[in-house]
Amino acid sequence: MTDVLIVGAGPTGLTLACDLTRRGVACRIIEQATAPAAGSRGFTLKPRSLEALDDLGVADRVLAAGDLRGWLRFHLGTEPLFDLRLPPAPADPTRPYPNTVALPQWRTESILRDRLAELGGKVEFGRRLTGFDAGDEGLTATPEDGENVTATLEDGERVRARYLVAADGGRSLVRRTLGLPFSGSTTEDTRALIADVRIDGLDRDNGTHLWVSADGHMLAARPIPHAGTWQVVTSLEPGDEGDLDTLRHALTTRTGRADIQASDPAWLSTWRYNLRMVERYRVGRVLLAGDAAHVHSPFGGHGMNTGIQDAYNLGWKLALVIQGAARAELLDSYEAERLPVAREILADSDRRLKGMVPPRVVRPLVRLILKSVMARQQRRTRHDHPVYRTGPLTRHLTGRRGRVRAGDVAPDAPVRLDGGEHRLSELLRGPHFTALVFGVAPDLADPRVRAYTVVRPGRAGLADTTGHLHRVYGGRKGTTVLIRPDGYVGLMADSPAALTGYLERL
Ligand SMILES: Cc1cc2nc3c(=O)[nH]c(=O)nc-3n(C[C@H](O)[C@H](O)[C@H](O)COP(=O)(O)OP(=O)(O)OC[C@H]3O[C@@H](n4cnc5c(N)ncnc54)[C@H](O)[C@@H]3O)c2cc1C
Repeated sequence: MTDVLIVGAGPTGLTLACDLTRRGVACRIIEQATAPAAGSRGFTLKPRSLEALDDLGVADRVLAAGDLRGWLRFHLGTEPLFDLRLPPAPADPTRPYPNTVALPQWRTESILRDRLAELGGKVEFGRRLTGFDAGDEGLTATPEDGENVTATLEDGERVRARYLVAADGGRSLVRRTLGLPFSGSTTEDTRALIADVRIDGLDRDNGTHLWVSADGHMLAARPIPHAGTWQVVTSLEPGDEGDLDTLRHALTTRTGRADIQASDPAWLSTWRYNLRMVERYRVGRVLLAGDAAHVHSPFGGHGMNTGIQDAYNLGWKLALVIQGAARAELLDSYEAERLPVAREILADSDRRLKGMVPPRVVRPLVRLILKSVMARQQRRTRHDHPVYRTGPLTRHLTGRRGRVRAGDVAPDAPVRLDGGEHRLSELLRGPHFTALVFGVAPDLADPRVRAYTVVRPGRAGLADTTGHLHRVYGGRKGTTVLIRPDGYVGLMADSPAALTGYLERL
């Protein structure tokens, strides 16, 4: 018997496996493929995912392996139209990761697998889930001790687990077995070829090259950091094969250049436009996360990030419930918080896909419109922090006006503790809740919480060295902030007395 069986070792399953393992939860992660996936697929890690990966101890490896420059050379037809070179956002002690990082998905996965190994776990490759039995009670009742899920693997092994997490991608067997509708649409004529190839004749120094024709056909070539290869994505005509010949033909016709040559494909795949999501993330002891719960267009770079953040939202909740430190109802908040996020990203990625067709106006106007739209999108991506202000775990019990409200991500800040200089995010790292009480020593003995008294510099406690914490929370004597294990503010109140009630409700 294991506590959690995770099906699928993509970015979602791996993030969850790392998070649960470091929290001391017994989990197994099975993967039907016999070896790690080779494709670059999800290419952009966003600031919120980087914060989650920091907590898991791998953000520095991601930064070392990736590229911070989101440079782009845009061609209309075959002619260059503009270069988009937003400088990386400057280092800021209140935002540890202000930029997106370009990194192929296989590299992100390998970093997470290494981290899982360091934590004492491992992916079981070549092990496919073929079915499961959650029993009537397991699927319908609020999970109570004693019930469990029995999963069957292809080799006949039967695995008993208290919870089963479907991180098994867009074609999720778990979702289909549960009979959960995957509502939305599939557009058969919107297809693309995606490949990791060697390219000769194209300079890597200008970042991504994007060619868009007036009839909406596109080709994007992105240099894969530290690999010498490229990820190429090109739209397919009806009837086109998704092979290297098609890719070569598209390169010549869409770029208008015969000197750009593709060879040595390490991975080739055909993508079809799907915009679908489930309406339930939990059925009893079975939970869905990542592509198993939502699929959409790659525009906006949401796919992998949403999966990582689903897992990060779920990990601490599952751990508290399994360890008996919270009621099983806490798991309901997973769907309540993450489903609206999926709805938003489906709409956003659809808007971005449709926005790729250039307006039929004169060239200088296209340059003006598209360049500013794309610059705005890039900047917005850097502030991509979903909020849970109306979520069931959010309590905003103060009339004070600070920039931050309960349900937001807790901003970082420079602090001093016991004579040492720190970032607040270092103190948040780990499986605990963090209470910040301004100017008052909190009277709280709860093993789930680390509590600090926030003071002005020169006094005993957690010194707010730049005054940032006081500013963003509108901190006065007694102001109390409870930060959840995933870095979100759960509670804001005028007195630490509110902590007890909040923690009891969990
Ligand atoms: C061709 C393609 C191109 C993409 N391009 C982009 C992009 O450019 N940008 C972007 O942001 N996103 C892109 N995506 C989406 C992104 O890759 C996904 O959002 C991301 O991989 C989701 O992660 P996941 O872990 O939820 O699912 P997946 O990465 O799909 O992982 C699911 C895993 O579960 C395993 N599995 C499935 N069934 C079973 C079973 N029965 N038993 C055991 N294991 C099982 C699979 O083998 C797989 O390894 C692309 C996806 C595809 C398919």
